[in-house]
Amino acid sequence: MGSSLGLMHVLQAAGHSVQVLLPNAPASFLHWMPGYAHAKAHDTDPAGAAAAIANCEVLFCLDFNRLDRVEKMEELLKSAPIKVLIDHHREPDTFDIMFSDITACATCQMVVDVVEGMGWAGHISSDAATCLYTGIMTDSGSFRFGSTTPHTHRVAAGLMERGAVPDIIHSAVLDDNSVDRLRLLGFALAERLVVYPEMETAIITLSIADQKRFNFAPGDAEGLVNYGLSIRGIRLAAFFMERSDRVKVSLRSKGNLPADRICAEHFKGGGHRNAAGGHAFDPLQQVVDRFLFVLPPYLK
Ligand code: 5GP
Repeated sequence: MGSSLGLMHVLQAAGHSVQVLLPNAPASFLHWMPGYAHAKAHDTDPAGAAAAIANCEVLFCLDFNRLDRVEKMEELLKSAPIKVLIDHHREPDTFDIMFSDITACATCQMVVDVVEGMGWAGHISSDAATCLYTGIMTDSGSFRFGSTTPHTHRVAAGLMERGAVPDIIHSAVLDDNSVDRLRLLGFALAERLVVYPEMETAIITLSIADQKRFNFAPGDAEGLVNYGLSIRGIRLAAFFMERSDRVKVSLRSKGNLPADRICAEHFKGGGHRNAAGGHAFDPLQQVVDRFLFVLPPYLK
């Protein structure tokens, strides 16, 4: 959301006509972002999304590196005439023009670099700065993950100078909890967190029944996986969430433990070394059992 809306504001300031397309609507804690109201979601407005692609001259693909990552929107995106990638995930597909930097903490940081490289820094309005700062803040875990560099802080400082206000952004993103979401968090930590000290691993699972019990809304499980990693001595945190058609897997790790390889080799996924995701089509407990079975070699 940050990179798409941020780039949208910049391109509009440069005189372009821009439509932001999303595979589906994000969680409510991102709906406040400047420009969000003009974004179209493919799942709720497939005709609008198709019209936008039919009219576009250039398609920017932001914060994903393979067209199959957007699932049902994939075929539509293939028809765009020129595709430009700006992204920080490993092993990207080939795009017509590619900005790929797997060391960047956030795609938003790269958007700032690209925009400044074009000599367009003057087009970064306070709305653009707010969106781009939001993406850097969320993807760097509020500037604490290992991918946060001096350059990250310089880019963030530049965005503050252009109007991003950190306390307002943090509050908008982080202080948007519903009571149900907080109670789900309490339940997950009290009842669904299992720690395997010998494997330095913590697992949280949420079944569909668990989610129903707390009136689950999209985004309610966002960040839940990180709690496992905050336990003393834990190097790998896993979160398994049952969905109607699959089990979504999220992994977070510390140091050299390759979360992305575990996801790529066992859960049809990928991501970054310390933050990765994937999915499986087996029942929830079987997925957890398989994870525990394949894990030991990765811990060495
Ligand atoms: P999350 O666990 O928050 O869903 O995702 C963590 C990271 O892994 C993100 O960078 C996300 O893009 C990536 N990721 C999540 N799910 C998948 C997946 O199914 N395939 C791939 N290639 N990457 C994923």
